[in-house]
Amino acid sequence: MSVEEEVMRIQKKLSKMTSDDGSGQEQALDLLQELQNLKINLDVLTKTRIGMTVNALRKSSKDDEVIALAKTLIKNWKKFLSNSDSSSKVSSSSDSKDSKKEEKRKEDKSKKEDKEKDKKLPTSFPPTSVTTNSVRLKCREMLASALKTDSNKEDFEGCASAEELAEELEEAIFQEFKNTDMKYKNRVRSRIANLKDVKNPTLRTNFRIGAISAQRLAVMTAEEMANDEVKQLREKFNKEAINDAQLATAQGTKTDMLKCGKCKKRNCTYNQLQTRSSDEPMTTFVLCNECGNRWKFC
Ligand SMILES: [Zn+2]
Repeated sequence: MSVEEEVMRIQKKLSKMTSDDGSGQEQALDLLQELQNLKINLDVLTKTRIGMTVNALRKSSKDDEVIALAKTLIKNWKKFLSNSDSSSKVSSSSDSKDSKKEEKRKEDKSKKEDKEKDKKLPTSFPPTSVTTNSVRLKCREMLASALKTDSNKEDFEGCASAEELAEELEEAIFQEFKNTDMKYKNRVRSRIANLKDVKNPTLRTNFRIGAISAQRLAVMTAEEMANDEVKQLREKFNKEAINDAQLATAQGTKTDMLKCGKCKKRNCTYNQLQTRSSDEPMTTFVLCNECGNRWKFC
């Protein structure tokens, strides 16, 4: 097993614990110690986002030993980040047309951010979109709770968490405005309203399963969010599934419409099954062909 696989195995167990409101964490200390003994590098950290998992555990745990060890791990991992911060910054921001100017601005920005970091270490993880700005954090929180509208914990198990997605979405919006003025706030507000809309569950679902990216959702108009494009995506997806059912392939259908919550790649295979009575929607079972992550959604 590679380090990355080891980390993901441990991560799976840890995320179960943090979703179960703090109970059943007896094993947590052992798992953290296992993590401590692994040679985890920046690559593994970024790919697995184990930092977020450990941080979530730190917040939900009531065991002092667990909290202390989680803190130590996160502190050690943050050291990697300060060394390679600028490279991850560049890769995380999207391509620009006005490249020369943009590049310069980015450089200035990351220099400034490095200085700010020295003053105050961020308390959140992961590396790509760390912020201590209270307006931004509040927006992320509200987006995350909008994403959880009408859904059970199990509904999107294995997909990226609502918090992660909210962070990506907020980051995408912030990258456009580079500040938190009215325009930024309005943009966030309209995303929240649409994500919360009980009459429009498809937008929420499509975003959570990765069929709509954060970059796309960040710039969608009200009409786009409310209607056709979103539904068509869903229809296209269902049609693909029906064709698949007719072929009755045991190995499932490959698709790039779904995004893995773990490795963020779009190379998945899925199967749809009627798990309950026939008038209920089908459950889709997804397997990531890159990292083996599995999840399901309705
Ligand atoms: Zn994956």
